[in-house]
Amino acid sequence: MLLSDLDFGLGDDSWIEDDSHIFGTLYYRVLCKCIPFLVAHLPFQAHRNCEPVCLADSDIHRIFSEMNTGDWWWDTKNQLPTRAMIVPVICASDKTRLTNFSGDHHTWLFYLTIGNIQKNICCTPKRHAWILVGLIPCPPDGANNIDKARHSAVGTVLSQLRHLDITGPGLKWDCADGFQRQCYPLLAAWVGDYPVQVMVAQVSYGSCPMCEIPKGAPMGHSTFRALDNSRDQHIYSELLEDNNLDTLHTLGVHPIRNQFWQYQLCNVYRLWQLDELHQLLLGLVKYLLHRLLKYLKARNVKDKFDNRFTSVP
Ligand SMILES: [Zn+2]
Repeated sequence: MLLSDLDFGLGDDSWIEDDSHIFGTLYYRVLCKCIPFLVAHLPFQAHRNCEPVCLADSDIHRIFSEMNTGDWWWDTKNQLPTRAMIVPVICASDKTRLTNFSGDHHTWLFYLTIGNIQKNICCTPKRHAWILVGLIPCPPDGANNIDKARHSAVGTVLSQLRHLDITGPGLKWDCADGFQRQCYPLLAAWVGDYPVQVMVAQVSYGSCPMCEIPKGAPMGHSTFRALDNSRDQHIYSELLEDNNLDTLHTLGVHPIRNQFWQYQLCNVYRLWQLDELHQLLLGLVKYLLHRLLKYLKARNVKDKFDNRFTSVP
């Protein structure tokens, strides 16, 4: 593998090879090199947000735009020392096919960026705001404990974020404007499809990774309020200590200590962001097309529909 082709100027020595993973070699990067690299990257200097702001329109309606305009940044800032600069770590991961002709090899790519970089830069692939930080081996089909192995591999990649002291002076990093700041890298968001969310949150398949809505509850007709029933890691931790496994099972939570509960100022059940590819295109749009196709076929008008559709100029 040409790791040197993937280095973003960080050098080959930023990669660590870990053979202790059960499904093959895990390659990952030293996060304490990658995150300061993004913080100090000169091309992003004019496109950075370091402090929380509150924006409003002329009718004094609040506007949400960049990550630092949201409540999360304000709430988190209040829990850190006065001069702290928050560095929100955003992860993205998905299974990717490596080859078509030599045995269908897959790997699980793990990318990372920081919420200080403005979203128009993050959305432009040429700006390289996302750094590849992990190549997690995919297990063969039918293997056992896939989620457990993947969860531990993800924890290995992110392990340097786990022991941050939020009452201490933080990490003194150079910023692109030439100043040094007290930085606090915090796991803040994750972009991933449903299997990734289930794996990271360690909830049973079919459960909501964010709230405790019962499995199979009718969509849109339930009196259930997601905001009042958000998942709470402190409650689950207590239930686990009391060995109350039945309650955890009812709530769809795996009876193990989720490693992300230990991350400072991180709520593993609130990491999830809207993912255009999986939720809108492969989720809603694909589902609606299936429904439409079934409807047209049942009424024997699919050909008529096709003809009309193709004749649209
Ligand atoms: Zn929910």
